[in-house]
Amino acid sequence: MVKAICVLTGYLRAFGVVRFELNEGGYLTIKGEFSGLPPGKHGLHVHSFGDITNDWISAGPLYIPTNKMQGMQQDKRHAGDLGIVNTSEDGLAKLDVAVSHFHLTGIHSIIGRTLVLHQNEDDSGKADKEESITTGSNGSGIAWGVIGICQSNISEEVLEENN
Ligand code: ZN
Repeated sequence: MVKAICVLTGYLRAFGVVRFELNEGGYLTIKGEFSGLPPGKHGLHVHSFGDITNDWISAGPLYIPTNKMQGMQQDKRHAGDLGIVNTSEDGLAKLDVAVSHFHLTGIHSIIGRTLVLHQNEDDSGKADKEESITTGSNGSGIAWGVIGICQSNISEEVLEENN
């Protein structure tokens, strides 16, 4: 079974490790740990490209999988959106969600695309508007990384060493 991982870095001391794994129900489980973030709620997105030559901006627009409607009905998230990362006052956060509208194989795989953690929480009411879809942004990126193939889960020590 394919697993994927994304190591996010960005401005200041922002750091994160997010793991993706398909579970038996066909959902993609997404578990992440973050540190060095500004306190508050941050939106987590998949953006279309794996190009981070100009930080998260060159990763292009929010990635829209074609089967988004099914996913939206099941988990009530808009396409490209993996959820909200709630960050405590100490800058730490954890994410543990399951979504149905992303894949790790095939033409609509998210491997090779960029995961972007945004400064602001998403406004889901704006999600279907042109501006939100094309920019994929409700605020600037604070941490980002390209999603890659993972052979096995990495050690928790990696997180600690980078804190
Ligand atoms: Zn975005």
